[in-house]
Amino acid sequence: MFESLTQRLSGTMERLRGRGRLSESNISEAVREVRIALLEADVALPVVQGLIQRIKVRAVGQEVMRSLTPGQVLVRIVRDELALVMGSQATDLNLNVPAPAVILMAGLQGAGKTTTVAKLAKHLKERRKKKVMVVSADVYRPAAIEQLQTLAGQVGALFFPSDASQKPEAIVKAAIIEARKTFADVLIVDTAGRTSIDDAMMAEIKALHAAVNPVETLFVVDSMTGQDAAVTAKHFGEALPLTGVVLTKTDGDARGGAALSVRYITGKPIKFVGVGEKPDALDVFHPDRAAGRILD
Ligand code: GDP
Repeated sequence: MFESLTQRLSGTMERLRGRGRLSESNISEAVREVRIALLEADVALPVVQGLIQRIKVRAVGQEVMRSLTPGQVLVRIVRDELALVMGSQATDLNLNVPAPAVILMAGLQGAGKTTTVAKLAKHLKERRKKKVMVVSADVYRPAAIEQLQTLAGQVGALFFPSDASQKPEAIVKAAIIEARKTFADVLIVDTAGRTSIDDAMMAEIKALHAAVNPVETLFVVDSMTGQDAAVTAKHFGEALPLTGVVLTKTDGDARGGAALSVRYITGKPIKFVGVGEKPDALDVFHPDRAAGRILD
Protein backbone atom coordinates (compact mmCIF):
# COMPACT_ATOMS: atom_id res chain seq x y z
CA MET A 1 0.00 0.00 0.00
CA PHE A 2 2.51 2.61 1.07
CA GLU A 3 5.19 0.80 -0.87
CA SER A 4 5.84 3.67 -3.18
CA LEU A 5 5.86 6.37 -0.52
CA THR A 6 9.60 6.26 0.04
CA GLN A 7 10.15 6.69 -3.68
CA ARG A 8 7.52 9.37 -3.97
CA LEU A 9 8.99 11.39 -1.14
CA SER A 10 12.55 11.00 -2.36
CA GLY A 11 11.39 12.25 -5.74
CA THR A 12 9.60 15.33 -4.50
CA MET A 13 12.38 16.17 -2.10
CA GLU A 14 15.29 15.56 -4.41
CA ARG A 15 15.55 19.19 -5.31
CA LEU A 16 15.89 20.17 -1.68
CA ARG A 17 19.31 18.59 -1.56
CA GLY A 18 21.87 20.85 -0.08
CA ARG A 19 19.50 22.87 2.08
CA GLY A 20 20.30 22.53 5.73
CA ARG A 21 16.87 22.56 7.28
CA LEU A 22 13.35 21.35 6.64
CA SER A 23 10.82 24.16 6.65
CA GLU A 24 7.06 24.43 6.38
CA SER A 25 7.37 25.61 2.79
CA ASN A 26 10.08 23.30 1.50
CA ILE A 27 8.34 20.16 2.79
CA SER A 28 4.81 21.13 1.79
CA GLU A 29 4.85 19.19 -1.47
CA ALA A 30 6.24 16.08 0.18
CA VAL A 31 3.74 16.35 3.03
CA ARG A 32 1.01 16.44 0.42
CA GLU A 33 2.38 13.16 -0.96
CA VAL A 34 2.26 11.64 2.52
CA ARG A 35 -1.34 12.78 2.90
CA ILE A 36 -2.34 11.25 -0.44
CA ALA A 37 -0.56 7.99 0.32
CA LEU A 38 -2.35 7.69 3.69
CA LEU A 39 -5.73 8.43 2.12
CA GLU A 40 -5.06 5.95 -0.67
CA ALA A 41 -4.35 3.36 2.00
CA ASP A 42 -7.82 4.10 3.38
CA VAL A 43 -6.65 5.71 6.60
CA ALA A 44 -9.59 7.69 8.02
CA LEU A 45 -9.56 11.41 7.31
CA PRO A 46 -9.37 12.67 10.93
CA VAL A 47 -6.49 10.25 11.52
CA VAL A 48 -4.66 11.49 8.42
CA GLN A 49 -5.09 15.07 9.60
CA GLY A 50 -3.81 14.24 13.07
CA LEU A 51 -0.80 12.38 11.72
CA ILE A 52 0.10 15.09 9.21
CA GLN A 53 0.02 17.66 11.98
CA ARG A 54 2.38 15.62 14.11
CA ILE A 55 4.69 14.93 11.20
CA LYS A 56 4.88 18.63 10.34
CA VAL A 57 5.62 19.65 13.91
CA ARG A 58 8.47 17.17 14.06
CA ALA A 59 9.85 17.94 10.63
CA VAL A 60 9.94 21.72 10.59
CA GLY A 61 13.27 23.03 11.75
CA GLN A 62 14.90 19.60 11.57
CA GLU A 63 18.53 19.69 10.50
CA VAL A 64 19.38 17.51 7.54
CA MET A 65 22.62 15.68 8.12
CA ARG A 66 25.05 15.51 5.24
CA SER A 67 24.76 11.79 4.84
CA LEU A 68 21.00 11.98 4.29
CA THR A 69 18.75 13.63 1.76
CA PRO A 70 15.78 15.70 2.99
CA GLY A 71 13.52 13.00 1.56
CA GLN A 72 15.19 10.39 3.73
CA VAL A 73 14.81 12.58 6.81
CA LEU A 74 11.11 13.06 6.16
CA VAL A 75 10.57 9.35 5.48
CA ARG A 76 12.26 8.62 8.81
CA ILE A 77 9.95 11.06 10.61
CA VAL A 78 6.87 9.56 8.97
CA ARG A 79 8.07 6.07 9.86
CA ASP A 80 8.70 7.07 13.50
CA GLU A 81 5.26 8.63 13.82
CA LEU A 82 3.53 5.59 12.38
CA ALA A 83 5.51 3.31 14.69
CA LEU A 84 4.54 5.52 17.64
CA VAL A 85 0.86 5.20 16.79
CA MET A 86 0.99 1.47 16.16
CA GLY A 87 3.04 0.65 19.27
CA SER A 88 6.06 -1.60 19.24
CA GLN A 89 5.28 -5.02 20.64
CA ALA A 90 2.62 -7.65 20.21
CA THR A 91 0.22 -7.62 23.15
CA ASP A 92 -1.13 -10.93 24.37
CA LEU A 93 -4.46 -11.53 26.08
CA ASN A 94 -4.42 -10.81 29.78
CA LEU A 95 -5.69 -13.85 31.67
CA ASN A 96 -4.23 -12.93 35.05
CA VAL A 97 -7.42 -13.17 37.07
CA PRO A 98 -9.05 -15.97 39.03
CA ALA A 99 -10.67 -18.42 36.58
CA PRO A 100 -12.71 -18.05 34.55
CA ALA A 101 -11.09 -15.10 32.76
CA VAL A 102 -14.00 -13.51 30.93
CA ILE A 103 -13.41 -12.14 27.42
CA LEU A 104 -16.22 -9.97 26.05
CA MET A 105 -16.48 -9.52 22.30
CA ALA A 106 -18.04 -6.33 20.94
CA GLY A 107 -18.67 -5.10 17.42
CA LEU A 108 -21.18 -4.70 14.63
CA GLN A 109 -23.08 -7.59 13.11
CA GLY A 110 -21.02 -9.19 10.38
CA ALA A 111 -17.72 -7.89 11.77
CA GLY A 112 -16.63 -11.45 12.48
CA LYS A 113 -17.31 -11.77 16.22
CA THR A 114 -18.64 -15.33 16.28
CA THR A 115 -15.91 -16.56 13.96
CA THR A 116 -13.32 -14.81 16.12
CA VAL A 117 -14.69 -16.41 19.31
CA ALA A 118 -13.96 -19.81 17.78
CA LYS A 119 -10.53 -18.69 16.54
CA LEU A 120 -9.61 -17.33 19.98
CA ALA A 121 -10.85 -20.49 21.68
CA LYS A 122 -8.60 -22.56 19.43
CA HIS A 123 -5.67 -20.19 19.97
CA LEU A 124 -6.04 -20.28 23.76
CA LYS A 125 -6.43 -24.04 23.79
CA GLU A 126 -3.48 -24.81 21.56
CA ARG A 127 -1.03 -22.03 22.35
CA ARG A 128 -1.78 -21.31 25.99
CA LYS A 129 -3.13 -24.71 27.00
CA LYS A 130 -6.35 -23.29 28.40
CA LYS A 131 -9.69 -24.94 28.89
CA VAL A 132 -12.14 -22.67 27.13
CA MET A 133 -15.91 -22.24 27.36
CA VAL A 134 -17.92 -20.11 24.96
CA VAL A 135 -21.37 -18.59 25.30
CA SER A 136 -23.58 -16.44 23.11
CA ALA A 137 -25.51 -13.52 24.56
CA ASP A 138 -27.03 -12.77 21.16
CA VAL A 139 -30.66 -13.31 22.13
CA TYR A 140 -31.96 -11.80 18.90
CA ARG A 141 -30.51 -14.30 16.47
CA PRO A 142 -31.00 -17.96 17.36
CA ALA A 143 -28.98 -18.76 14.23
CA ALA A 144 -25.98 -16.99 15.78
CA ILE A 145 -26.24 -19.19 18.88
CA GLU A 146 -26.36 -22.30 16.68
CA GLN A 147 -23.41 -21.04 14.65
CA LEU A 148 -21.38 -20.68 17.84
CA GLN A 149 -22.36 -24.16 19.00
CA THR A 150 -21.18 -25.66 15.71
CA LEU A 151 -17.91 -23.74 15.82
CA ALA A 152 -17.31 -24.67 19.46
CA GLY A 153 -17.64 -28.33 18.44
CA GLN A 154 -15.10 -27.82 15.68
CA VAL A 155 -12.46 -26.25 17.90
CA GLY A 156 -13.08 -28.40 20.97
CA ALA A 157 -14.39 -25.66 23.27
CA LEU A 158 -17.10 -26.17 25.88
CA PHE A 159 -20.39 -24.61 24.80
CA PHE A 160 -22.81 -23.07 27.29
CA PRO A 161 -26.32 -23.12 25.76
CA SER A 162 -28.52 -20.03 25.74
CA ASP A 163 -31.81 -19.09 24.13
CA ALA A 164 -33.78 -16.11 22.99
CA SER A 165 -36.04 -16.03 26.05
CA GLN A 166 -33.20 -15.13 28.42
CA LYS A 167 -31.57 -11.83 29.28
CA PRO A 168 -27.92 -11.43 28.19
CA GLU A 169 -26.71 -10.72 31.73
CA ALA A 170 -28.48 -13.76 33.16
CA ILE A 171 -27.00 -15.96 30.43
CA VAL A 172 -23.46 -14.84 31.09
CA LYS A 173 -23.76 -15.01 34.88
CA ALA A 174 -25.01 -18.59 34.58
CA ALA A 175 -22.16 -19.37 32.18
CA ILE A 176 -19.62 -18.02 34.67
CA ILE A 177 -21.00 -20.34 37.37
CA GLU A 178 -20.86 -23.29 34.98
CA ALA A 179 -17.32 -22.36 33.92
CA ARG A 180 -16.24 -22.43 37.58
CA LYS A 181 -17.88 -25.81 38.11
CA THR A 182 -16.18 -27.33 35.09
CA PHE A 183 -12.83 -25.65 35.83
CA ALA A 184 -12.77 -23.74 32.57
CA ASP A 185 -9.91 -21.22 32.52
CA VAL A 186 -11.50 -18.82 30.07
CA LEU A 187 -15.07 -17.89 29.16
CA ILE A 188 -15.48 -16.09 25.82
CA VAL A 189 -18.73 -14.16 25.47
CA ASP A 190 -20.18 -13.50 22.02
CA THR A 191 -22.62 -10.58 21.93
CA ALA A 192 -25.36 -9.20 19.73
CA GLY A 193 -24.29 -6.73 17.09
CA ARG A 194 -26.46 -4.53 14.92
CA THR A 195 -25.76 -3.60 11.34
CA SER A 196 -25.07 -0.03 12.42
CA ILE A 197 -24.41 1.79 15.69
CA ASP A 198 -27.57 2.14 17.72
CA ASP A 199 -28.26 3.32 21.25
CA ALA A 200 -30.10 0.19 22.37
CA MET A 201 -27.19 -2.05 21.33
CA MET A 202 -24.68 0.19 23.09
CA ALA A 203 -26.82 0.32 26.25
CA GLU A 204 -27.11 -3.47 26.24
CA ILE A 205 -23.41 -4.16 25.88
CA LYS A 206 -22.52 -1.52 28.47
CA ALA A 207 -24.89 -3.16 30.95
CA LEU A 208 -23.47 -6.58 30.12
CA HIS A 209 -19.94 -5.29 30.61
CA ALA A 210 -20.84 -3.81 33.99
CA ALA A 211 -22.53 -7.04 35.08
CA VAL A 212 -19.75 -9.47 34.17
CA ASN A 213 -16.61 -7.37 34.59
CA PRO A 214 -14.52 -8.97 31.82
CA VAL A 215 -10.71 -8.93 32.01
CA GLU A 216 -10.61 -8.42 28.23
CA THR A 217 -13.10 -6.41 26.19
CA LEU A 218 -12.20 -6.85 22.54
CA PHE A 219 -13.57 -4.68 19.79
CA VAL A 220 -13.96 -6.73 16.61
CA VAL A 221 -13.89 -4.72 13.40
CA ASP A 222 -13.94 -5.55 9.72
CA SER A 223 -10.83 -4.12 8.10
CA MET A 224 -12.66 -3.90 4.77
CA THR A 225 -15.03 -1.22 6.05
CA GLY A 226 -12.45 1.52 5.60
CA GLN A 227 -13.60 4.92 6.84
CA ASP A 228 -16.56 3.34 8.66
CA ALA A 229 -14.21 1.25 10.76
CA ALA A 230 -12.93 4.47 12.30
CA VAL A 231 -16.43 5.74 13.09
CA THR A 232 -17.45 2.42 14.64
CA ALA A 233 -14.22 2.32 16.66
CA LYS A 234 -14.93 5.77 18.05
CA HIS A 235 -18.41 4.75 19.25
CA PHE A 236 -17.35 1.47 20.83
CA GLY A 237 -14.26 3.08 22.34
CA GLU A 238 -16.38 5.74 24.00
CA ALA A 239 -19.00 3.27 25.25
CA LEU A 240 -16.71 0.57 26.65
CA PRO A 241 -13.32 0.38 28.37
CA LEU A 242 -11.81 -1.64 25.53
CA THR A 243 -8.65 -3.61 26.21
CA GLY A 244 -7.86 -4.50 22.62
CA VAL A 245 -8.93 -4.85 19.04
CA VAL A 246 -9.30 -7.77 16.63
CA LEU A 247 -9.08 -6.64 13.03
CA THR A 248 -10.85 -9.17 10.81
CA LYS A 249 -10.78 -9.97 7.11
CA THR A 250 -7.27 -8.64 6.61
CA ASP A 251 -6.91 -11.37 3.97
CA GLY A 252 -9.18 -9.26 1.78
CA ASP A 253 -7.89 -5.84 2.78
CA ALA A 254 -5.59 -4.57 0.10
CA ARG A 255 -5.02 -1.18 1.64
CA GLY A 256 -4.62 -1.73 5.35
CA GLY A 257 -5.39 1.76 6.62
CA ALA A 258 -7.97 0.40 9.06
CA ALA A 259 -5.24 -0.88 11.39
CA LEU A 260 -3.73 2.56 11.70
CA SER A 261 -7.11 4.31 12.03
CA VAL A 262 -8.52 1.99 14.68
CA ARG A 263 -5.32 2.03 16.71
CA TYR A 264 -5.12 5.82 16.55
CA ILE A 265 -8.78 6.34 17.47
CA THR A 266 -9.15 3.79 20.26
CA GLY A 267 -5.60 4.04 21.57
CA LYS A 268 -5.91 0.30 22.25
CA PRO A 269 -3.60 -2.39 20.90
CA ILE A 270 -4.64 -4.51 17.96
CA LYS A 271 -4.08 -7.94 19.50
CA PHE A 272 -5.06 -10.23 16.64
CA VAL A 273 -5.88 -10.11 12.96
CA GLY A 274 -8.27 -12.43 11.15
CA VAL A 275 -6.72 -13.78 7.97
CA GLY A 276 -9.48 -16.06 6.67
CA GLU A 277 -12.71 -17.81 7.52
CA LYS A 278 -11.32 -20.99 9.09
CA PRO A 279 -10.81 -21.34 12.86
CA ASP A 280 -7.04 -21.35 12.48
CA ALA A 281 -6.99 -18.16 10.40
CA LEU A 282 -5.99 -15.88 13.27
CA ASP A 283 -2.60 -14.24 13.66
CA VAL A 284 -1.08 -12.42 16.59
CA PHE A 285 -0.63 -8.83 15.44
CA HIS A 286 2.91 -7.46 15.35
CA PRO A 287 2.62 -3.67 15.26
CA ASP A 288 6.32 -3.08 14.66
CA ARG A 289 6.27 -5.21 11.53
CA ALA A 290 3.08 -3.53 10.34
CA ALA A 291 4.51 -0.05 10.86
CA GLY A 292 7.77 -1.10 9.20
CA ARG A 293 5.98 -2.45 6.15
CA ILE A 294 4.12 0.79 5.64
CA LEU A 295 7.05 2.62 4.13
CA ASP A 296 9.37 -0.09 2.85
P1 GDP B 1 -20.61 -11.59 13.53
O1 GDP B 1 -21.96 -11.20 13.02
O2 GDP B 1 -19.82 -10.40 13.99
O3 GDP B 1 -20.64 -12.67 14.55
O4 GDP B 1 -19.80 -12.14 12.25
P2 GDP B 1 -19.48 -13.64 11.81
O5 GDP B 1 -18.47 -14.26 12.72
O6 GDP B 1 -20.74 -14.37 11.59
O7 GDP B 1 -18.73 -13.36 10.42
C1 GDP B 1 -19.34 -12.76 9.31
C2 GDP B 1 -18.70 -13.30 8.05
O8 GDP B 1 -17.34 -12.88 7.97
C3 GDP B 1 -18.68 -14.82 7.97
O9 GDP B 1 -18.97 -15.22 6.66
C4 GDP B 1 -17.24 -15.17 8.32
O10 GDP B 1 -16.81 -16.38 7.74
C5 GDP B 1 -16.50 -13.99 7.74
N1 GDP B 1 -15.20 -13.74 8.41
C6 GDP B 1 -14.95 -13.52 9.71
N2 GDP B 1 -13.64 -13.28 9.92
C7 GDP B 1 -13.03 -13.37 8.71
C8 GDP B 1 -11.67 -13.19 8.25
O11 GDP B 1 -10.73 -12.91 9.00
N3 GDP B 1 -11.46 -13.35 6.91
C9 GDP B 1 -12.47 -13.64 6.04
N4 GDP B 1 -12.18 -13.76 4.76
N5 GDP B 1 -13.75 -13.78 6.43
C10 GDP B 1 -14.04 -13.65 7.75
